[in-house]
Amino acid sequence: MVIVMAPEATSSDIDAVTDLVTAAGGEAFVSRGVRRTIIGLVGDAAEFASLDLRAKPGVSDVLRITAPYKLVSRENQPQRSVVEVAGVPIGGDAVTLLGGPCAVETPQQTLEAARMAQSAGAAVLRGGAFKPRTSPYAFQGLGEAGLEILAEVRATTGMPIVTEVVDVRDVDLVASYADMLQVGTRNMQNFALLQAVGEAGKPVLLKRGMSATIEEWLMAAEYIAQRGNLDIVLCERGIRTYEKATRNTLDISAVPVAQSLTHLPVIVDPSHSGGKRDLVLPLTRAALAVGADGVIVDVHPTPETALCDGPQALVPGDMEELGDVMRTLPGILGRRLVRPADTVEPALV
Ligand code: PEP
Ligand code: MN
Repeated sequence: MVIVMAPEATSSDIDAVTDLVTAAGGEAFVSRGVRRTIIGLVGDAAEFASLDLRAKPGVSDVLRITAPYKLVSRENQPQRSVVEVAGVPIGGDAVTLLGGPCAVETPQQTLEAARMAQSAGAAVLRGGAFKPRTSPYAFQGLGEAGLEILAEVRATTGMPIVTEVVDVRDVDLVASYADMLQVGTRNMQNFALLQAVGEAGKPVLLKRGMSATIEEWLMAAEYIAQRGNLDIVLCERGIRTYEKATRNTLDISAVPVAQSLTHLPVIVDPSHSGGKRDLVLPLTRAALAVGADGVIVDVHPTPETALCDGPQALVPGDMEELGDVMRTLPGILGRRLVRPADTVEPALV
């Protein structure tokens, strides 16, 4: 249950409500927003009903939030959130392109991939230094050396970086380099990791578990939010189905469904969904058309030598077409592409 306080409610009105709730054996979580204050209640709903909270001074509404996720629920915050990654916005009226190599391999490969992505309009660089591989014998990523390469490429290109963290023990290390922490599909329900990234002070890109329902995905986001971090971007990256023609099945309807249930931005990964280079552009168009707040793509200067996911990486020759899609389609849909120029300069202190 959520109590929405009227804009003119005073602190003592708010205290009076929380006192009543605690006296009735419940817990009250006060969330003070710019426009309104909301009090989330946990406890016995029948007991709360007997308090007649709607009639108390300063109370504007009493909502029964049926969703088990409360902080990320759109019932709690009807207006859509914008998450800033080192000043680059994701969400709102713009769409954001994120791109880069699946895995950081060398400084040159990472820089070339970053330049490729940038030429197509990418404002954020992706790249894995810690790779969650299905096989323990596959390339696991360069670790901290990979983070250093990402930091160098950020300094050269000006692109903020999103990179995956796969282990609670590495959260502080990865957060010391990254502008945004990625939690991958295989870790979507690693609750200790979700809590740790919730406390790391960096925005989080939360990929949907490959077999997770939308509700489970939002509950995973709630774990991060409950630790005080509401800067979360959701990423639909394809789910497991019986279909073998694609690596995963892009659940395109998950985008508007999730956007109706949560205020968090929702982006799409057409590379890991289709798993094939030729599908990336069609799925990118589909993602934008359905209303995604952004797209994250794998690119590689020489995918035939890639240590990870070469078959789905876009090549230099694909950048012109990707750039055309990113420059034209958002406008047709009443949106615009976030360009690096949109980056908000940090205030001088
Ligand atoms: C990735 O983006 O590098 C990745 C491993 O993606 P996912 O977790 O969606 O498989
Ligand atoms: Mn990959």
